[in-house]
This record gives sequence, structure tokens and C-alpha cells, in this order.
Amino acid sequence: MASVTFDKATRRFPSMDRPAVDSLDLEIEDGEFMVLLGPSGCGKSTCLRMLAGLEDVDSGSILIGVRDVTHLPPRDRNIAMVFQDYALYPHLSAADNIGFALKIARMSRVRARQRVEYAASVLDIEQFLARRPGSLAGGEQQRVATGRVLVRDPRVYLMDEPLSNLDARLRAQTRTQLVRLQNHLGITTVYVTHDQAEAMAVGDRLAVLKDGVLQQVGTPKEVYARPANTFVGGFIGSPAMNLFRLPLSAAGARLGALEVPLPRGTLRAAGAGGAEEIVLGVRPEQFDFLSPQDRESPGLDLVVEAVEDTGAVVYLHTTAWSGEGLARIVVRLPGRPTYGRGATLRVAVRADGVHCFSAVTGQRLP
Ligand code: ATP
Repeated sequence: MASVTFDKATRRFPSMDRPAVDSLDLEIEDGEFMVLLGPSGCGKSTCLRMLAGLEDVDSGSILIGVRDVTHLPPRDRNIAMVFQDYALYPHLSAADNIGFALKIARMSRVRARQRVEYAASVLDIEQFLARRPGSLAGGEQQRVATGRVLVRDPRVYLMDEPLSNLDARLRAQTRTQLVRLQNHLGITTVYVTHDQAEAMAVGDRLAVLKDGVLQQVGTPKEVYARPANTFVGGFIGSPAMNLFRLPLSAAGARLGALEVPLPRGTLRAAGAGGAEEIVLGVRPEQFDFLSPQDRESPGLDLVVEAVEDTGAVVYLHTTAWSGEGLARIVVRLPGRPTYGRGATLRVAVRADGVHCFSAVTGQRLP
């Protein structure tokens, strides 16, 4: 087992006008399940490939434990990686693919078989073990590729979107199993995904990347509750956080008819350098509903455009007059309301549910 340290690790490609990974500083603890998360092209896979030794590090360094592995070939790093494209041996059965590394390591046949069967049971692929990759569906091949990694005993597991080809149900089930196994084995794991819900479900911590730059590192709860900037606020959570760019007033900001009071320190920081606007973030669940009869309490009038019923919760996609123009707002309703398209309702914003960001830098304000 081992910690992993990225120390100002940078990777440039001639075809890009910015580094694919820009001076990444990240400490992954021994035994931790760390998720690298971000939209397509943000540099997640490049980080993983640098750690694996499959991509050069142009500047900075990478350590596994106390050992500097920056320039070591992949085979000397004692890592095991699940690739996005499965790279299975077509002429071997699923079982032989999974057990291949164990055979090379001359593990006894009985022990190797036990390990293969255990990995297959975690991944629910026992029934495919005798088949060759060519006869397996994409999601089945993907689980065989993951099994090939799980039977090994490396210092670090690296996984690049290992569940991307599974259907939603199997994906949720397999990721739960993966987390259980990882908790049991305690092997440091670095896991890449662009799916924020998956990241929240599996990660001890998340590292959120955008354009090759690390935006925030924290537990899923921390990143959700205190996003470092508007990008993280909008990326984590589904449906996304509502973000409003609003003019600053003396005591807060005005969202349509609703005056949102803000602490003095926040107002001062928002107005630094002469800025006249602020960005407020409100998650769908941070609205309170006002009775239609209650015209006394200050509220925001919404018109329902679409109803998203997930079964467990209902999201209303609405529009409101923000004072600046028409704003799109998603709100989550408690219970099972019966609003339809075109219905109107009034809401207030919970005082503790407002995230404040600089309109200039997008960074979270104190
Ligand atoms: P995805 O989720 O789509 O795999 P990602 O976040 O993993 O995306 P990377 O694959 O790390 O992103 O790529 C980061 C950037 O580097 C992208 O703009 C990509 O086009 C570029 N890139 C990656 N590999 C190379 C390469 N070998 N040569 C040139 N550019 C590359």
C-alpha cells in the first residue's frame, strides 16, 4: 500500500495551447479512494497515465510512497490499471485473461483460481469465465478487464472509467461492490470519471479538474456543500446548482422581487476592485415554498416549464423574472406535488442555502 503525490506535475502536448495537466499538486493518502473528476478533455486520463508511466511528465514529479517514480518505466511502479479500452487477449478465456498476471507471477494454480473466482463474484461475471472476449458484450468485457486488475496486489489501483459501458443498474451495483472490495483490501485507488454522481458515490475524496487545472479537492460532502467556485458549484450536483449573476445593492442582491441579504464581509469581497455584480448559487433543494395566499412574505414568482419526476423526488424546471431578464430555475419540491406545465408558484430562498461567488473571478466569497 502507498500514498501518491503529484508535485507540480505538468504535461504539455504540442497540439494544445495550454498544458493538458497544469502544475498538479495532489496528495492521495495511503488506502484512499480518490476520484479524478471533470468534463471531457479536462486532463483526468492524462493524470492517470502520468501516474502509470504511460505519459511523460514534462515538469514536476510523482511519488508513490516516498519513491520518486517520475521517470520509472510502468513495470517498475507496482501499479495495476484498468484501461478505458479493455485491451483483453482475444485468444484467452475470460478466466485466463483475469488470471494472466498471476500466471506470469507463478502463483499456484489453486490460489490463482480462488482469486479469479473471487474477483468474478465481485463483478458478477462468474457465468462468463469460460468465454472468450470476442463473444462478450462491451460491458461484460469491461468487467473482465476490471477483474484482471482486482486479482493483483499492487500498491495502487488505477481505474479509467471502468464502468462506463454498463447499464445504469449494473453500474450502480458494480460500483458498490468495487467500493466494498477496495475498503476490504485497503489498496490506494485512483479512479477517473466524468460522472459526478458516480464520483460522489465511490470517492473518499474528489479532485475536480477543469482545463488541466485542479479546481478543488475534498470529500463529496465538502465539495457539494462548499464548492470553491462557480465551475465546481455547477458541475457537482444534478440537477445543477442555479447560478444567478446579479447587481449588488447596499445590503445584498436583488433576484426579481426578492432581496437576498448578504453579510457585510461578503458584500465587501464581492465589490472588490469596483465590481458591481455578484454570482449567487442556489441548489434546487434550497428553496422554501410560499403559500399562494401569502402575498406578505417576499417571494419569487415562478412559472413551471417542465416537470421532472424521478420517482423519489420531483424537480420543477421553471422560469422567473430575475430583474435582469428571464432566469431558468430548477426547484425540488418536497412530497409529490401536482404542479403541471404552466402552473405558477412562489418561493423564497433559504438564508443558509445561498452560495456567493465573485462575478469577476468566479471564486467562492467568504
Ligand atoms: P475524457 O473524459 O474525454 O477521456 P480527459 O479529461 O480524460 O477526457 P485527457 O484524455 O486527459 O482528458 O485529455 C486532456 C487533453 O489533452 C485533451 O484536450 C486531449 O485532446 C489532449 N490529449 C490527450 N492525449 C493527447 C495526445 N497523445 N496528443 C495530443 N493531445 C492529447
